[in-house]
Amino acid sequence: MGAVSDVLSQLETLLGASGFTTDPVVSESYLAEWRGRYRGETPFIALPTNSREVAEIVRICARAGIAITPQGGNTGLVGGQIPQGEVLVSLRRMKRILDIDPLTDSMTVEAGVVLANVQAAAANIDRLFPMSLGSEGSATVGGLISTNAGGVHVMRYGMMRDLVMGLEVVLPNGQVLSALQPLRKDNTGYDLKHLFVGAEGTLGIVTAATLKLCPRSREHVVALAAVNSADDALSILQMLRSATDSLTAFEIMNAACVQVAVEQTPVLRHPFPCWKSWVVLIEFQAVRDVGLMETVEHLLADAMEAALIADVIIANSERQSREFWHLRESISGAQRALGAQSNHDISVPVSAVPEFLRSAAIAAHGVLSDVRILAFGHAGDGNVHYTVAMPATGSASEFENARAAIAEAVYSVVMKLGGSFSAEHGIGVARRDDLYRFKSSVALELMKAIKTSLDPQGIMNPRAMLRR
Ligand SMILES: Cc1cc2nc3c(=O)[nH]c(=O)nc-3n(C[C@H](O)[C@H](O)[C@H](O)COP(=O)(O)OP(=O)(O)OC[C@H]3O[C@@H](n4cnc5c(N)ncnc54)[C@H](O)[C@@H]3O)c2cc1C
Repeated sequence: MGAVSDVLSQLETLLGASGFTTDPVVSESYLAEWRGRYRGETPFIALPTNSREVAEIVRICARAGIAITPQGGNTGLVGGQIPQGEVLVSLRRMKRILDIDPLTDSMTVEAGVVLANVQAAAANIDRLFPMSLGSEGSATVGGLISTNAGGVHVMRYGMMRDLVMGLEVVLPNGQVLSALQPLRKDNTGYDLKHLFVGAEGTLGIVTAATLKLCPRSREHVVALAAVNSADDALSILQMLRSATDSLTAFEIMNAACVQVAVEQTPVLRHPFPCWKSWVVLIEFQAVRDVGLMETVEHLLADAMEAALIADVIIANSERQSREFWHLRESISGAQRALGAQSNHDISVPVSAVPEFLRSAAIAAHGVLSDVRILAFGHAGDGNVHYTVAMPATGSASEFENARAAIAEAVYSVVMKLGGSFSAEHGIGVARRDDLYRFKSSVALELMKAIKTSLDPQGIMNPRAMLRR
């Protein structure tokens, strides 16, 4: 107890009155997860403003063997950012853009910069930072890197790992790995930055990053298509990929997803009111003026002629494009209205998406008939957000009793198809047991060896990902 209070007073002295909070109302935004699934506690919420302070916080904690949970925007979906007794280090106040270079096509930012601000800064110099996801108004660069976030443009630009050129990281002993060079080529041994991408704060605290920028698109077209099946959706994907290099997003939504999004979001209207099957959101972007709208009209007309599309709406304004995206992005929040549910963020090879959807539905209904299936996501990457919700007239407790068997049924289909039980949200605390079930023993031993070598005391986010 003495050691803890000594550490806390050292942290207070280091950070000054504005560098930590004890206010219960302010603390709530750090300790409560937005969906209410995780609630945390901490002896101290540190709010550093630069990497020197972060390094000193870590040194103080490391000397006393006190554990730390790093946090960015608190939008993570697997609970890794919520402390259970650890010191919380929030990077939210580290929000400076340190450098931006149109010739190198790079931007160096502190870890607490919010994604939307990175996008805006890139647009200011006529460049694109292509990462885009529903939480972009709150998710920070440090969090996106630490979860290796995906989002809606992965099929064209890759995951966060593909967009990182350099990193600055405070290691668990307080040393700083400074590697922010905007180099496109650097074959000088192990590429250490990749250790920290997707590490979920278990190997150190990311304090800054150099990010890749891309050419900004001049033309942008978004369409919604009504299709009869996931097989047809995949045929459209294949057709479009062969015909154009402008495809940037291909998002599928089953009928239940569209229905619940429209019911729960007052500003939304059903794009195809009588349609009871799949809806696909398709986005195209072109860097040069190539008459993209005309090309898209021809391509989608071909798909209709081939009977792959039953109906289509091409957005005729920026506002309508945003409405289409709003429909897709409302699903995560809206589906909570369906009561008890088992959520899965899975991936399979793109060609296996229809087979996954067929087999998983049969498997889930085999456990509990009348469950409702919501399937949506980044079909162009083989990534489906797959929710099995309690029957409309059933009881939550009956569903809770069946929950583990439902998850098992879904995962057994995923594994049979050579897929992953966590495509883009990470492991955190929610998927830790699954990691131990599905990862090979060789991979697990390697992960543990890396963790022990960098963090022998096990103080960095000790509850996330690996068991102690
Ligand atoms: C509406 C919504 C939509 C979403 N859509 C997507 C999507 O399409 N694709 C996707 O991949 N994710 C998605 N997410 C999940 C989430 O936004 C991402 O995981 C995001 O990358 C988390 O960023 P954050 O700053 O909020 O991190 P946090 O939630 O604060 O932290 C996430 C993890 O990273 C660690 N961490 C945070 N900052 C640092 C740091 N500086 N150094 C070391 N470790 C750190 C934390 O300890 C924790 O383990 C969505 C979330 C919401 C709420």
